[in-house]
Amino acid sequence: MISQRGVHLLTAHGLRGSLQKAALSTTGANHKSYKLVVVGGGAGGCATAAKFSSKLGKGQVAVIDPANMHYYQPMWTLVGGGMKTLEDSGKPMSEVLPRKADWIKRKVVSFDPHNNKVITDKGQEINYEYLVVALGIQLNYEQIEGLPEAFETPGVCSNYSPMYVKKTFKSLKRFKEGNAVFTFPNTPIKCAGAPQKIMYISEEYLRTHGKRDKANIEYFTSLPVIFGIKKYADALWKVVNERNINVNLRQNLIEVKPDSREAIFQNLDKPDEFKTIKYDMLHVTPPMSSPDVLRNCAALVDGAGYLKVNKETLQHESFPNIFGIGDCTNVPTSKTAAAVAGQFGVLHRNLSMVMEGKTPQSVYDGYTSCPLVTGYSTCILAEFDMNGNPLETFPLNQAKERRTMFHMKKDIMPSMYWMGMLNGLWEGPKYVRKAMHLGFSR
Ligand code: FAD
Repeated sequence: MISQRGVHLLTAHGLRGSLQKAALSTTGANHKSYKLVVVGGGAGGCATAAKFSSKLGKGQVAVIDPANMHYYQPMWTLVGGGMKTLEDSGKPMSEVLPRKADWIKRKVVSFDPHNNKVITDKGQEINYEYLVVALGIQLNYEQIEGLPEAFETPGVCSNYSPMYVKKTFKSLKRFKEGNAVFTFPNTPIKCAGAPQKIMYISEEYLRTHGKRDKANIEYFTSLPVIFGIKKYADALWKVVNERNINVNLRQNLIEVKPDSREAIFQNLDKPDEFKTIKYDMLHVTPPMSSPDVLRNCAALVDGAGYLKVNKETLQHESFPNIFGIGDCTNVPTSKTAAAVAGQFGVLHRNLSMVMEGKTPQSVYDGYTSCPLVTGYSTCILAEFDMNGNPLETFPLNQAKERRTMFHMKKDIMPSMYWMGMLNGLWEGPKYVRKAMHLGFSR
């Protein structure tokens, strides 16, 4: 085993040699070793495992994930609007993980980076030469008082979980009159556009089903803005104004009272001020955090609990044999599957270099994207970098609502995800963007 001090002193070249010596062959059910262990078999983990198991060969890569199903989560916005089903959005994990990788169908309960191992909930010790952490982000519905009970009642729903996403369309169909309320929590979240996408879809549904006159649509967000990037925020303000949607900034959902069907919000600028609103429909985006198992390992995380990686190389700041990808990292970009695609190319090149004893060279530009669906046939395709600058693929104004972008989101992106990204073949639209801009783009 390599000591903590040893890891810190290793150069990339020395790391390779020492770790190779440290590597053991598979040694029984409770103690296994792999060249590469990937924790989490979601978007980032699956792509990483596909690439490296094909490169390193059978038995060299393990993916640890307890989930039966792998979901294409971006589709849940459309499931909530009744355009797709939950079943359309998922495939058995056994079908999406690469055949050459070993799937350890357990939950990781602790990390031991000083000794290059992780522990599963069955007490197995899994040793690694290299580790990729791809745990995603944790949903914390229970942090809102009364919400778990409220989910048992009609009209309370959330596109963020496979447990509640089916209720969204049911809630829309049963809506008769009153307030339809949509929330955005006071924490970082994945896909920061999703809390309002379902609101626009709902508005159009109510309008086309003769219920809009009796509906008051309210958006309560903890943020001081409607969207973090000004170009798209300006376009969204136009949409909410044209559609008569009320936007309440700096308001954080803290309690739901299912008996009286009331939602209580705290004013984040005046914490003693609370606002209570009756709802007929309530769509909740939950508070989120780094997964507990990661937060509990102080050596791996930053002050907020996210995996502490170099934002350009994705290599861990203290353990050079550890990399991170996706929502669980502290890379300061918007947490999306599109960002995972952009990070994936950088990760596989840099991890390959480290495995060869070289220094990581590839740099992540912070690319992320959010297809802001604004109804049943329109979408604003927001694409930007980690400094908040638009980084658009197409040579047209992407802040405009467009039918083409909607079809891309609904009909093209799912195939790109299942066939391209999960097989380690899609690294985001960088080269398409360059071609579209005749080479004059980053
Ligand atoms: P995930 O894909 O979430 O995978 C994490 C994996 O870790 C899971 O398989 C989980 O089972 C596993 N895991 C968790 N804990 C453990 C443990 N202790 N041990 C082992 N395994 C564990 N992105 C877009 O690009 N565009 C969109 O339009 C979009 N819309 C969205 C709409 C909604 C409603 C939602 C919910 C998400 C949306 N996203 C969108 C975000 C996107 O889905 C995520 O950013 C992306 O899936 C992150 O990938 P990841 O690999 O980091 O995590």
